Amino acid sequence: MNRAMPYYMPLPLCGSGTFEVEGLSSYISRLAYLHGATRHQFIAHLSDWWSRNSGQQRPLPNQCALVRLNGYSPDAALFVEALEAATGTSEVRAATLLSLKNVCAKNCIGSTRYHRAWCPRCYQEDRLAGRPAYDRLLWRLQSYERCSVHHLRLEILCPHCSSVQTDPNRSLPLDICGECKGDLVGPSLRWRRAAHSELGEDDLERLLAYVARHPQVEFDASAPWVFLERMKDAFSHGDLLRYAGDVFHNRKKPVKPQLNSLLSMAAFVRVSLLDILLDPTCAGSQELMDIPPQAARRRKKRRSIGQERLDRYRQVLEEAIQKGPPYPTHEALATYADMHPHARPACLENLVCQLHQLRANDVKQRRIQKQAQIDRLVLDHARMEGSHPRKPFIRTIVAEAEAPVHTVRDRVRLLCD
Ligand SMILES: [Zn+2]
Ligand SMILES: [Zn+2]
Repeated sequence: MNRAMPYYMPLPLCGSGTFEVEGLSSYISRLAYLHGATRHQFIAHLSDWWSRNSGQQRPLPNQCALVRLNGYSPDAALFVEALEAATGTSEVRAATLLSLKNVCAKNCIGSTRYHRAWCPRCYQEDRLAGRPAYDRLLWRLQSYERCSVHHLRLEILCPHCSSVQTDPNRSLPLDICGECKGDLVGPSLRWRRAAHSELGEDDLERLLAYVARHPQVEFDASAPWVFLERMKDAFSHGDLLRYAGDVFHNRKKPVKPQLNSLLSMAAFVRVSLLDILLDPTCAGSQELMDIPPQAARRRKKRRSIGQERLDRYRQVLEEAIQKGPPYPTHEALATYADMHPHARPACLENLVCQLHQLRANDVKQRRIQKQAQIDRLVLDHARMEGSHPRKPFIRTIVAEAEAPVHTVRDRVRLLCD
Protein backbone atom coordinates (compact mmCIF):
# COMPACT_ATOMS: atom_id res chain seq x y z
CA MET A 1 0.00 0.00 0.00
CA ASN A 2 1.33 3.40 -0.95
CA ARG A 3 0.94 5.54 2.15
CA ALA A 4 2.54 8.60 0.52
CA MET A 5 -0.41 9.00 -1.86
CA PRO A 6 -3.67 9.61 -0.01
CA TYR A 7 -6.74 8.09 -1.66
CA TYR A 8 -9.20 10.67 -0.30
CA MET A 9 -8.75 14.39 0.15
CA PRO A 10 -6.71 14.83 3.34
CA LEU A 11 -9.01 16.34 5.94
CA PRO A 12 -7.42 17.63 9.16
CA LEU A 13 -9.11 16.63 12.41
CA CYS A 14 -10.82 19.63 14.04
CA GLY A 15 -9.79 20.67 17.56
CA SER A 16 -6.62 18.61 17.25
CA GLY A 17 -4.47 18.55 20.40
CA THR A 18 -7.17 20.04 22.67
CA PHE A 19 -10.05 18.69 24.76
CA GLU A 20 -12.36 19.95 22.00
CA VAL A 21 -11.01 17.29 19.63
CA GLU A 22 -13.45 15.98 17.01
CA GLY A 23 -15.18 12.59 17.38
CA LEU A 24 -14.64 9.86 14.76
CA SER A 25 -18.30 9.70 13.69
CA SER A 26 -18.19 13.46 13.04
CA TYR A 27 -14.94 13.08 11.08
CA ILE A 28 -16.47 10.35 8.87
CA SER A 29 -19.59 12.47 8.25
CA ARG A 30 -17.47 15.46 7.25
CA LEU A 31 -15.29 13.31 4.96
CA ALA A 32 -18.41 11.92 3.27
CA TYR A 33 -19.81 15.45 2.84
CA LEU A 34 -16.49 16.69 1.44
CA HIS A 35 -16.60 13.95 -1.21
CA GLY A 36 -20.26 14.60 -2.02
CA ALA A 37 -21.29 11.14 -0.81
CA THR A 38 -23.74 9.92 1.79
CA ARG A 39 -22.23 8.25 4.87
CA HIS A 40 -23.40 4.87 3.57
CA GLN A 41 -21.75 5.40 0.17
CA PHE A 42 -18.54 6.69 1.74
CA ILE A 43 -18.14 3.77 4.15
CA ALA A 44 -18.88 1.27 1.37
CA HIS A 45 -16.28 2.99 -0.83
CA LEU A 46 -13.66 3.08 1.94
CA SER A 47 -14.39 -0.54 2.77
CA ASP A 48 -13.88 -1.58 -0.84
CA TRP A 49 -10.59 0.35 -1.09
CA TRP A 50 -9.39 -1.11 2.24
CA SER A 51 -10.06 -4.72 1.26
CA ARG A 52 -8.18 -4.24 -2.03
CA ASN A 53 -5.20 -2.34 -0.62
CA SER A 54 -4.59 -3.34 2.96
CA GLY A 55 -3.81 -7.00 2.46
CA GLN A 56 -5.59 -7.60 5.76
CA GLN A 57 -7.82 -10.56 6.37
CA ARG A 58 -10.33 -8.63 8.40
CA PRO A 59 -12.56 -6.36 6.27
CA LEU A 60 -14.08 -3.11 7.52
CA PRO A 61 -17.53 -3.57 9.01
CA ASN A 62 -19.68 -2.24 6.21
CA GLN A 63 -22.29 -0.29 8.12
CA CYS A 64 -21.45 -0.48 11.79
CA ALA A 65 -23.17 1.70 14.34
CA LEU A 66 -21.18 4.93 14.30
CA VAL A 67 -21.78 5.35 18.01
CA ARG A 68 -19.25 2.60 18.74
CA LEU A 69 -16.63 4.36 16.66
CA ASN A 70 -16.28 7.18 19.18
CA GLY A 71 -15.38 4.68 21.88
CA TYR A 72 -12.81 1.91 22.17
CA SER A 73 -14.30 -0.94 20.15
CA PRO A 74 -12.22 -3.11 17.77
CA ASP A 75 -14.25 -1.57 14.90
CA ALA A 76 -12.95 1.85 15.88
CA ALA A 77 -9.34 0.63 15.71
CA LEU A 78 -9.89 -0.79 12.22
CA PHE A 79 -11.56 2.38 10.96
CA VAL A 80 -8.75 4.51 12.37
CA GLU A 81 -6.15 2.42 10.56
CA ALA A 82 -8.08 2.54 7.26
CA LEU A 83 -8.81 6.28 7.48
CA GLU A 84 -5.25 7.20 8.40
CA ALA A 85 -3.99 5.25 5.38
CA ALA A 86 -6.68 6.55 3.02
CA THR A 87 -6.40 10.23 3.96
CA GLY A 88 -2.67 10.35 4.71
CA THR A 89 -3.33 11.94 8.12
CA SER A 90 -1.79 10.46 11.22
CA GLU A 91 -3.95 11.92 13.98
CA VAL A 92 -7.30 10.15 13.50
CA ARG A 93 -6.76 7.93 16.55
CA ALA A 94 -7.20 11.00 18.78
CA ALA A 95 -10.85 11.13 17.62
CA THR A 96 -11.59 7.96 19.62
CA LEU A 97 -11.13 6.61 23.14
CA LEU A 98 -8.85 3.81 21.90
CA SER A 99 -6.32 4.80 24.56
CA LEU A 100 -8.76 3.11 26.99
CA LYS A 101 -9.18 -0.10 25.00
CA ASN A 102 -7.16 -2.19 27.45
CA VAL A 103 -8.86 -0.66 30.47
CA CYS A 104 -12.56 -0.49 29.60
CA ALA A 105 -15.15 -3.02 28.40
CA LYS A 106 -15.33 -3.21 24.60
CA ASN A 107 -19.09 -2.68 24.21
CA CYS A 108 -18.99 0.96 25.44
CA ILE A 109 -22.45 0.53 27.02
CA GLY A 110 -23.29 3.55 29.13
CA SER A 111 -20.22 5.41 27.88
CA THR A 112 -20.93 6.68 24.37
CA ARG A 113 -24.17 8.35 23.25
CA TYR A 114 -26.42 6.79 20.61
CA HIS A 115 -27.71 10.17 19.51
CA ARG A 116 -25.80 13.33 18.77
CA ALA A 117 -25.56 16.23 21.21
CA TRP A 118 -24.22 19.69 20.51
CA CYS A 119 -23.55 23.12 21.96
CA PRO A 120 -25.29 25.65 19.66
CA ARG A 121 -22.83 28.40 20.56
CA CYS A 122 -19.85 26.17 19.63
CA TYR A 123 -21.44 25.62 16.19
CA GLN A 124 -21.94 29.38 15.90
CA GLU A 125 -18.29 30.03 16.77
CA ASP A 126 -17.16 27.38 14.27
CA ARG A 127 -18.98 29.33 11.55
CA LEU A 128 -17.60 32.69 12.69
CA ALA A 129 -14.09 31.22 12.68
CA GLY A 130 -14.65 30.04 9.11
CA ARG A 131 -14.28 26.32 9.93
CA PRO A 132 -16.91 23.65 9.36
CA ALA A 133 -19.17 22.87 12.32
CA TYR A 134 -18.01 19.63 13.91
CA ASP A 135 -19.08 17.39 16.81
CA ARG A 136 -16.64 17.24 19.71
CA LEU A 137 -15.72 13.75 20.96
CA LEU A 138 -16.79 14.89 24.43
CA TRP A 139 -20.34 15.50 23.20
CA ARG A 140 -20.69 11.81 22.37
CA LEU A 141 -19.92 10.74 25.96
CA GLN A 142 -22.92 10.09 28.17
CA SER A 143 -21.36 11.64 31.27
CA TYR A 144 -20.80 14.94 29.52
CA GLU A 145 -23.95 17.06 29.60
CA ARG A 146 -22.94 20.70 29.26
CA CYS A 147 -20.42 22.80 27.31
CA SER A 148 -17.96 24.10 29.88
CA VAL A 149 -16.68 26.77 27.46
CA HIS A 150 -20.05 28.49 27.06
CA HIS A 151 -21.83 27.22 30.18
CA LEU A 152 -24.68 25.86 28.08
CA ARG A 153 -26.52 22.55 28.36
CA LEU A 154 -25.90 20.34 25.30
CA GLU A 155 -28.89 20.18 22.93
CA ILE A 156 -30.21 16.86 21.65
CA LEU A 157 -33.38 17.90 19.78
CA CYS A 158 -33.72 19.99 16.61
CA PRO A 159 -35.03 23.46 17.66
CA HIS A 160 -37.47 23.41 14.70
CA CYS A 161 -38.89 19.89 14.39
CA SER A 162 -37.81 18.39 17.76
CA SER A 163 -36.31 15.30 16.14
CA VAL A 164 -33.40 13.41 17.68
CA GLN A 165 -30.24 13.74 15.60
CA THR A 166 -28.38 10.55 14.77
CA ASP A 167 -25.31 10.43 12.55
CA PRO A 168 -26.48 11.92 9.24
CA ASN A 169 -26.85 9.39 6.47
CA ARG A 170 -27.59 12.09 3.94
CA SER A 171 -24.80 14.34 2.69
CA LEU A 172 -25.33 17.28 5.04
CA PRO A 173 -23.17 19.60 7.14
CA LEU A 174 -23.34 18.66 10.83
CA ASP A 175 -25.12 21.86 11.95
CA ILE A 176 -28.15 21.10 9.74
CA CYS A 177 -31.09 18.94 10.94
CA GLY A 178 -31.22 15.54 9.20
CA GLU A 179 -35.04 15.64 9.19
CA CYS A 180 -36.23 19.19 8.40
CA LYS A 181 -32.90 20.65 7.20
CA GLY A 182 -33.32 23.47 9.73
CA ASP A 183 -30.42 25.21 11.48
CA LEU A 184 -29.42 23.27 14.64
CA VAL A 185 -28.07 26.47 16.27
CA GLY A 186 -31.61 27.82 16.70
CA PRO A 187 -32.56 31.11 18.37
CA SER A 188 -30.24 32.00 21.27
CA LEU A 189 -33.28 32.60 23.51
CA ARG A 190 -33.85 28.85 23.54
CA TRP A 191 -30.32 27.97 24.66
CA ARG A 192 -30.32 26.52 28.16
CA ARG A 193 -27.80 27.99 30.61
CA ALA A 194 -25.92 25.67 32.99
CA ALA A 195 -23.64 27.64 35.28
CA HIS A 196 -22.28 24.79 37.41
CA SER A 197 -20.00 22.01 36.30
CA GLU A 198 -21.27 18.43 36.35
CA LEU A 199 -19.70 15.49 38.12
CA GLY A 200 -16.97 13.93 35.97
CA GLU A 201 -16.84 16.89 33.55
CA ASP A 202 -13.33 18.10 34.54
CA ASP A 203 -12.09 14.50 34.64
CA LEU A 204 -13.23 13.84 31.07
CA GLU A 205 -11.83 17.11 29.76
CA ARG A 206 -8.41 16.45 31.33
CA LEU A 207 -8.40 12.88 29.99
CA LEU A 208 -9.34 13.92 26.45
CA ALA A 209 -6.87 16.84 26.41
CA TYR A 210 -4.09 14.41 27.34
CA VAL A 211 -5.14 11.82 24.74
CA ALA A 212 -5.45 14.55 22.08
CA ARG A 213 -1.83 15.53 22.74
CA HIS A 214 -0.67 11.89 22.89
CA PRO A 215 -2.86 10.00 20.38
CA GLN A 216 -0.80 6.81 20.58
CA VAL A 217 -1.04 6.43 24.38
CA GLU A 218 -2.49 3.16 25.71
CA PHE A 219 -3.37 3.07 29.38
CA ASP A 220 -2.56 -0.04 31.32
CA ALA A 221 -5.38 -2.49 32.05
CA SER A 222 -4.24 -3.00 35.62
CA ALA A 223 -4.29 0.73 36.57
CA PRO A 224 -7.74 0.77 38.28
CA TRP A 225 -6.91 -2.42 40.23
CA VAL A 226 -3.50 -1.21 41.36
CA PHE A 227 -5.10 2.05 42.47
CA LEU A 228 -7.93 0.33 44.36
CA GLU A 229 -5.47 -1.97 46.07
CA ARG A 230 -3.74 1.13 47.46
CA MET A 231 -7.12 2.56 48.49
CA LYS A 232 -8.16 -0.56 50.42
CA ASP A 233 -7.12 0.75 53.82
CA ALA A 234 -8.44 4.28 53.34
CA PHE A 235 -12.05 3.19 52.79
CA SER A 236 -14.28 0.54 54.26
CA HIS A 237 -14.95 -2.50 52.08
CA GLY A 238 -18.67 -1.61 52.12
CA ASP A 239 -18.05 1.94 50.88
CA LEU A 240 -15.80 0.74 48.10
CA LEU A 241 -18.42 -1.77 47.00
CA ARG A 242 -21.12 0.88 47.19
CA TYR A 243 -19.40 3.70 45.28
CA ALA A 244 -16.79 1.93 43.19
CA GLY A 245 -18.53 -1.45 43.01
CA ASP A 246 -18.66 -1.59 39.21
CA VAL A 247 -14.87 -1.42 39.16
CA PHE A 248 -13.95 -3.04 42.41
CA HIS A 249 -16.42 -5.93 42.50
CA ASN A 250 -16.02 -8.91 44.67
CA ARG A 251 -14.88 -11.20 41.88
CA LYS A 252 -11.83 -13.38 41.59
CA LYS A 253 -11.40 -12.60 37.89
CA PRO A 254 -11.57 -8.86 37.33
CA VAL A 255 -13.91 -7.73 34.55
CA LYS A 256 -13.22 -4.63 32.51
CA PRO A 257 -15.25 -1.72 33.84
CA GLN A 258 -17.18 0.86 31.82
CA LEU A 259 -15.83 4.39 31.51
CA ASN A 260 -18.75 5.75 33.53
CA SER A 261 -17.94 3.37 36.38
CA LEU A 262 -14.34 4.59 36.40
CA LEU A 263 -15.51 8.21 36.50
CA SER A 264 -17.81 7.39 39.38
CA MET A 265 -14.97 5.70 41.27
CA ALA A 266 -12.59 8.63 40.63
CA ALA A 267 -15.25 11.07 41.88
CA PHE A 268 -15.75 8.98 45.02
CA VAL A 269 -12.08 8.93 45.96
CA ARG A 270 -11.62 12.50 44.68
CA VAL A 271 -8.60 11.70 42.54
CA SER A 272 -8.42 12.64 38.85
CA LEU A 273 -9.10 9.68 36.54
CA LEU A 274 -6.15 10.72 34.36
CA ASP A 275 -3.81 10.53 37.37
CA ILE A 276 -5.17 7.07 38.23
CA LEU A 277 -4.58 5.82 34.69
CA LEU A 278 -1.14 7.40 34.28
CA ASP A 279 0.33 6.46 37.64
CA PRO A 280 -2.02 4.45 39.88
CA THR A 281 0.58 3.90 42.61
CA CYS A 282 1.29 7.62 42.99
CA ALA A 283 -2.41 8.57 42.69
CA GLY A 284 -3.23 5.99 45.37
CA SER A 285 -0.88 7.61 47.85
CA GLN A 286 -2.41 11.10 47.59
CA GLU A 287 -3.73 12.42 50.84
CA LEU A 288 -7.44 11.73 51.14
CA MET A 289 -9.96 13.97 52.77
CA ASP A 290 -13.24 13.08 54.45
CA ILE A 291 -16.10 12.90 52.03
CA PRO A 292 -18.97 15.24 52.92
CA PRO A 293 -22.31 13.40 53.01
CA GLN A 294 -23.77 15.63 50.26
CA ALA A 295 -21.06 14.61 47.80
CA ALA A 296 -21.61 10.97 48.71
CA ARG A 297 -25.32 11.30 47.90
CA ARG A 298 -24.56 12.77 44.48
CA ARG A 299 -22.19 9.93 43.78
CA LYS A 300 -24.76 7.36 44.69
CA LYS A 301 -27.17 8.85 42.15
CA ARG A 302 -24.47 8.65 39.49
CA ARG A 303 -24.26 4.87 39.87
CA SER A 304 -27.80 4.06 38.80
CA ILE A 305 -27.22 5.09 35.19
CA GLY A 306 -29.02 2.01 33.84
CA GLN A 307 -32.11 2.77 35.90
CA GLU A 308 -32.05 6.44 34.85
CA ARG A 309 -32.10 5.43 31.19
CA LEU A 310 -34.93 2.96 31.75
CA ASP A 311 -36.97 5.64 33.57
CA ARG A 312 -36.34 8.09 30.76
CA TYR A 313 -37.39 5.54 28.12
CA ARG A 314 -40.56 4.78 30.09
CA GLN A 315 -41.34 8.49 30.37
CA VAL A 316 -40.91 9.26 26.64
CA LEU A 317 -42.95 6.16 25.69
CA GLU A 318 -45.81 7.22 27.98
CA GLU A 319 -45.67 10.80 26.70
CA ALA A 320 -45.74 9.70 23.06
CA ILE A 321 -48.76 7.42 23.69
CA GLN A 322 -50.61 10.17 25.56
CA LYS A 323 -49.84 12.85 22.98
CA GLY A 324 -51.56 10.93 20.17
CA PRO A 325 -50.75 10.84 16.43
CA PRO A 326 -48.41 11.19 14.66
CA TYR A 327 -46.61 8.54 16.71
CA PRO A 328 -42.79 8.32 16.59
CA THR A 329 -41.16 4.91 16.19
CA HIS A 330 -40.02 3.16 19.38
CA GLU A 331 -36.54 3.04 17.85
CA ALA A 332 -36.42 6.86 17.79
CA LEU A 333 -37.55 7.02 21.42
CA ALA A 334 -34.99 4.41 22.54
CA THR A 335 -32.25 6.45 20.84
CA TYR A 336 -33.53 9.56 22.60
CA ALA A 337 -33.24 7.74 25.95
CA ASP A 338 -29.64 6.77 25.11
CA MET A 339 -30.45 3.10 24.61
CA HIS A 340 -29.75 0.89 21.63
CA PRO A 341 -32.39 1.56 18.93
CA HIS A 342 -33.55 -2.08 19.12
CA ALA A 343 -33.53 -2.29 22.91
CA ARG A 344 -36.77 -3.76 24.27
CA PRO A 345 -36.41 -4.09 28.05
CA ALA A 346 -38.84 -6.68 29.43
CA CYS A 347 -40.30 -4.20 31.94
CA LEU A 348 -41.29 -1.85 29.11
CA GLU A 349 -42.44 -4.49 26.61
CA ASN A 350 -46.14 -3.61 27.14
CA LEU A 351 -45.58 0.09 26.44
CA VAL A 352 -43.42 -0.65 23.37
CA CYS A 353 -46.11 -3.00 21.97
CA GLN A 354 -48.84 -0.46 22.69
CA LEU A 355 -46.97 2.29 20.84
CA HIS A 356 -46.17 -0.06 17.96
CA GLN A 357 -49.85 -1.00 17.58
CA LEU A 358 -51.05 2.63 17.79
CA ARG A 359 -48.49 3.66 15.19
CA ALA A 360 -49.41 0.79 12.85
CA ASN A 361 -53.15 1.68 13.09
CA ASP A 362 -52.40 5.35 12.51
CA VAL A 363 -50.25 4.64 9.46
CA LYS A 364 -52.96 2.35 8.05
CA GLN A 365 -55.64 4.99 8.65
CA ARG A 366 -53.58 7.65 6.91
CA ARG A 367 -53.02 5.36 3.94
CA ILE A 368 -56.77 4.76 3.58
CA GLN A 369 -57.47 8.49 3.78
CA LYS A 370 -54.80 9.28 1.20
CA GLN A 371 -56.17 6.64 -1.14
CA ALA A 372 -59.70 8.07 -0.85
CA GLN A 373 -58.33 11.54 -1.63
CA ILE A 374 -56.47 10.23 -4.72
CA ASP A 375 -59.59 8.37 -5.91
CA ARG A 376 -61.67 11.53 -5.57
CA LEU A 377 -59.17 13.57 -7.56
CA VAL A 378 -58.83 10.92 -10.29
CA LEU A 379 -62.60 10.67 -10.80
CA ASP A 380 -63.07 14.47 -10.71
CA HIS A 381 -60.34 15.11 -13.26
CA ALA A 382 -61.46 12.24 -15.48
CA ARG A 383 -64.99 13.65 -15.50
CA MET A 384 -63.80 17.18 -16.30
CA GLU A 385 -61.13 16.42 -18.87
CA GLY A 386 -62.57 13.38 -20.64
CA SER A 387 -59.92 11.48 -22.61
CA HIS A 388 -56.44 12.60 -21.64
CA PRO A 389 -52.78 11.69 -22.12
CA ARG A 390 -51.87 9.42 -19.22
CA LYS A 391 -48.53 10.91 -18.03
CA PRO A 392 -49.51 14.59 -17.51
CA PHE A 393 -52.77 13.38 -15.95
CA ILE A 394 -50.87 11.34 -13.33
CA ARG A 395 -48.44 14.22 -12.74
CA THR A 396 -51.33 16.60 -11.96
CA ILE A 397 -52.83 14.19 -9.41
CA VAL A 398 -49.40 13.55 -7.80
CA ALA A 399 -48.91 17.31 -7.33
CA GLU A 400 -52.40 17.92 -5.97
CA ALA A 401 -52.51 14.94 -3.61
CA GLU A 402 -48.82 15.15 -2.66
CA ALA A 403 -48.70 11.37 -3.09
CA PRO A 404 -46.03 9.03 -4.50
CA VAL A 405 -46.19 8.46 -8.29
CA HIS A 406 -46.54 4.67 -8.04
CA THR A 407 -49.59 4.92 -5.75
CA VAL A 408 -51.34 7.37 -8.09
CA ARG A 409 -50.45 5.25 -11.14
CA ASP A 410 -51.96 2.15 -9.53
CA ARG A 411 -55.20 3.95 -8.64
CA VAL A 412 -55.53 5.50 -12.12
CA ARG A 413 -55.07 2.06 -13.69
CA LEU A 414 -57.72 0.59 -11.43
CA LEU A 415 -60.30 3.37 -11.86
CA CYS A 416 -59.85 4.43 -15.49
CA ASP A 417 -58.85 1.28 -17.38
ZN1 LIG B 1 -19.99 25.60 23.55
ZN1 LIG C 1 -35.38 19.56 12.38
